[in-house]
Amino acid sequence: ANVMSKENIEAVLKEAYSKFKDVKEGKNADYIKELANVDPNIFGIALVTTDGKVYTIGDYNSMVSIQSISKAFVMAQIIEEDGHQAIQDKIGVDATGMRFNSIVAVEEHKGQEINPLVNPGAIAATSMVKGNDSVAKWESILAKQSEFAGRTLSLNKPVYISEASDNLRNQAIAHLLFSYGRLYFDPIQSTDIYTKQCALNVSAKDLAVMSATLANGGVNPVTKKKVVSPETVMYTLPVMATAGLYDDSGIWFYNSGLPAKSGVGGGIIAVCPGKFGIGVVSPPLDAAGNSLKSQLVIKYVVEKLKANPYLIQ
Ligand code: GLN
Repeated sequence: ANVMSKENIEAVLKEAYSKFKDVKEGKNADYIKELANVDPNIFGIALVTTDGKVYTIGDYNSMVSIQSISKAFVMAQIIEEDGHQAIQDKIGVDATGMRFNSIVAVEEHKGQEINPLVNPGAIAATSMVKGNDSVAKWESILAKQSEFAGRTLSLNKPVYISEASDNLRNQAIAHLLFSYGRLYFDPIQSTDIYTKQCALNVSAKDLAVMSATLANGGVNPVTKKKVVSPETVMYTLPVMATAGLYDDSGIWFYNSGLPAKSGVGGGIIAVCPGKFGIGVVSPPLDAAGNSLKSQLVIKYVVEKLKANPYLIQ
């Protein structure tokens, strides 16, 4: 039987949904105050194939803030604008092995040997986006994230205001990077744009379309629009594989074989190159800051759809 048949994909998503629906472990992020108020029972799953078929179950239209998942797509935007060498030279592409907002990770190598998928490297990536001022940079990021999603994304204002008014740690990280010559725009403005980018509202379905665009070599399989080049995707996915789930990236990759990216809003995407992208939303997080149920769902789906690329039968 073809594991990627319509019937099988629908059955597997349904099984995953009912198997994990009642899991109650984990806790919403609360260091960003507004995230503590998000309904912890939101549970949405979406899978989009590279030929543009959309499969959904549960609260697949419920919105949460994208948070760190945006980092993968800003990374792709920088590679598209400046080439892959620029990321390697000006930010780094090494896993830090530390928490996503680690200051030690910056200090350790004087702002070097980090990557665009943890806060310091992500703020640096945001500072590199082309644009003459912060408005132009923000509009460019918004446009690119929206192209990946296939619709114009909008800002979750309460989340943005909540984080922007309580953002000293990320501002400190930005200033520290700037002091090492590893931030490429004003630290306060770079942090502000980064905070906005993290506050974009997305559903599980949006996340699945965004990850399916990576799975499809940079062409959005739903809108058919070319968002980035295949080479850009080729350089984005390895960093998702090594650093997409913060300090649990190793255990994630060991168990799934798929490049992925999480966000503290509760979303996770995973990319099965050439086949599909999956997006899952469930706000309660584990100790590393990754959505607990989203991980369970994706691991289950990967196993049932035989989607681990290292499974050679
Ligand atoms: N905006 C969040 C922060 O900077 C994003 C973190 C995350 O999703 N891990 O802390």
